[in-house]
Amino acid sequence: MKQNLPVLLLKGLILLPSNDIRLEFDNDISKTIIDVAGIFHNNLIFVVTQKDPLEENPDINDLPKVGVIGRITHKLELPNGKIRVVITGFRRAYVNEYLNPDDDITEAIVSEVPIEEIPNDISIGTIRKLYHELEKYIKNVPYISNGLLALISNTKDISKLTDIVVTQISLSNERLMDYVSQVSALKRVEMILEDIYKEEQLYEIEKKIDSKVKKELDNSQKEFLLREKFKIIKEELGEDTFFESECDELRESVDKLNCDKKVKNRLLKEIKRYENTPATSPEIGIIRNYIDWLLNLPWNIYTKDYEDIKKVLKSLDESHYGLFNVKKRIIEYLAVKKYTRKINGTIICLVGPPGVGKTTLAYSIAKSIKRNFVKISVGGVSDEGEIVGHRKSYLGAGPGRIIDGMRRAKSSNPVFLIDEIDKMSKDYKGDPASALLEVLDVSQNKYFKDNYIEEEYDLSNVMFILTANSVSSIPNALLDRLEIINIDGYTDLEKLDIAKKYLIPKICDSHGLKKVKIDDDFILDVIRYYTKEAGVRELERKISSVIRQIVTNMVLKKSKVSNYILQVNDVSKYLGNALFFNNNISIQPQIGVVNGLAFTSYGGDVLPIEVNYYPGNGRLILTGSLGDVFKESAKIALSYIKANYELFNIDYDLLLNNDIHIHIPNGSVNKEGPSAGVNLTTALISAFTNLKINGNIAMTGEITLRGNILGNFKRKYSRNRWIKRKNNGG
Ligand code: ADP
Repeated sequence: MKQNLPVLLLKGLILLPSNDIRLEFDNDISKTIIDVAGIFHNNLIFVVTQKDPLEENPDINDLPKVGVIGRITHKLELPNGKIRVVITGFRRAYVNEYLNPDDDITEAIVSEVPIEEIPNDISIGTIRKLYHELEKYIKNVPYISNGLLALISNTKDISKLTDIVVTQISLSNERLMDYVSQVSALKRVEMILEDIYKEEQLYEIEKKIDSKVKKELDNSQKEFLLREKFKIIKEELGEDTFFESECDELRESVDKLNCDKKVKNRLLKEIKRYENTPATSPEIGIIRNYIDWLLNLPWNIYTKDYEDIKKVLKSLDESHYGLFNVKKRIIEYLAVKKYTRKINGTIICLVGPPGVGKTTLAYSIAKSIKRNFVKISVGGVSDEGEIVGHRKSYLGAGPGRIIDGMRRAKSSNPVFLIDEIDKMSKDYKGDPASALLEVLDVSQNKYFKDNYIEEEYDLSNVMFILTANSVSSIPNALLDRLEIINIDGYTDLEKLDIAKKYLIPKICDSHGLKKVKIDDDFILDVIRYYTKEAGVRELERKISSVIRQIVTNMVLKKSKVSNYILQVNDVSKYLGNALFFNNNISIQPQIGVVNGLAFTSYGGDVLPIEVNYYPGNGRLILTGSLGDVFKESAKIALSYIKANYELFNIDYDLLLNNDIHIHIPNGSVNKEGPSAGVNLTTALISAFTNLKINGNIAMTGEITLRGNILGNFKRKYSRNRWIKRKNNGG
């Protein structure tokens, strides 16, 4: 059935059958169309949507050929002159012709689309299929409302059902227009299925993209957030700019270093790590510490040696008395270096009792050849790590003493004094002596690697000087590589010389005193009765004490007299009562008493060895804190005498029927070693032959069972001379 209806042309809005649209008009044409529909067409109106929503006056030939007949169900005239209408679509209709009786209102001759004949089973199956697919679709795509299923649950008409569904799923206007123009309901079902499949797939892709983007966003956002927070914290703490400029400064310092590229790269890497580590991390201090160590080591910084050998010798003479061997050796070292332009591989080790000038001489050597000086002490070290550093994984790790010394030296070729190498010990933490070997070995130390620093450091230009108190306790492996130079203790007269020429001028100078005349006897008294040492350290202290008192007196009495003369009677005035007496030695000839010589930390001492015997049965009694070897010496001496009693004119019965007691006074001091053998033998012979032994003789030496005497005679000779001079009073 054809009918003539006014056309309502929509832009961007679509009316489908079984759906409503709400519209508001304020233009006269639309109002007229609504009026015409109400007055002449029983509120029926033909609704189409123009294809191009931007077109103001579309050509009627371009208008859709299928539209929807709708009924105006509500109409309201608003006070502002507008009218509001609700139009309900109820049937598709073909357009036979658009009419344009006048310019304003378009009419159309339309004929309703006939109702499609669909067999029942197809209809039911199609509806069920659509229902299931929609169910799935709603489940998969969350932005489709659940209400859709409720809307269609009671609808048995496929055509109506499709028209309700399409407005509920998300479709573009163009697609909706396709639905309007599709007159077959079954076709529309296919279209719907196609659309929801497509939509599901799109949603899957969307989801994937979403989760990927979200993940990336999550990570970058997290980092961003943390960095932002970190920045704010730093700003709050006022560290921000400081930190950045600090890193820049570090980089500049790296640039200025004269080190290997490898070390530079390492440093730059560490600075980067430092920069990227949060200030709150415990790592940061560790990294910074490491950077500081690398930056502050002297990399290829060399001082130029002063090579005027005569002047070097002169300056050594000016600072130290005697010590000819050492000075000679240093001069040789310099001469060879100057001649060959190569580093001399031998390592000098100064061995001698404390206070004989080992350390100060090493310092003077450095000063005289104009090298930097650095000193470390390895006394008491039992951990290898103390020498070559601890690995960074170690808690509180740091470099070893060698690298620490190099840092302090501030040049790559200093004079490096390693003190007390005989006081190292070895335990479960490794052997420091073997670590030291690595340091000193010229063939290896060019590539010295500290465990903490981890980069090679060239030690081959360092002049190492070692010191020890005694050779016997230097580890053997080390001893092998060293050139030992012994500095024996000084005699009283040598000490007197040192005091007059070196110590007193030095002390007076440091106290601002010009003229103090100190008598030799005064000094000798200080040496003999106020000090007991091989070196002159204590002597220096005592003289300093005297000088301090003079200065204090001058200040208190406000006297300007600086012309002090110190005589022997003044000693006790300044230093109190004498501290040491040599009253255990008698110079009177005696029977059964022999002076022995002992090696002590203060150089040496004279100890009388006493023998007595009384009726008994040949027992040997030994007293005076004697060690095992000492006791064995006594037994050897006695056996030797028993075996040779005729030679010494000794009555053998005396040896059998008496107990023999040997004693060494000063029982609080431990005595050990075989070198009293000769004294023990002499004292025993003296006791059993009643021959007196000269009191101004002292001796030392090991005796064998066959009566041979072993020992270093050169050394004993100088000791004897010392004893003689001492007993003669000078
Ligand atoms: P060591 O290292 O052997 O224990 P030091 O080098 O510390 O001894 O010397 C201690 C003090 O004795 C220093 O003040 C030093 O100047 C002085 N001294 C030692 N021997 C001499 C010497 N031969 N000439 C001048 N001064 C000396």
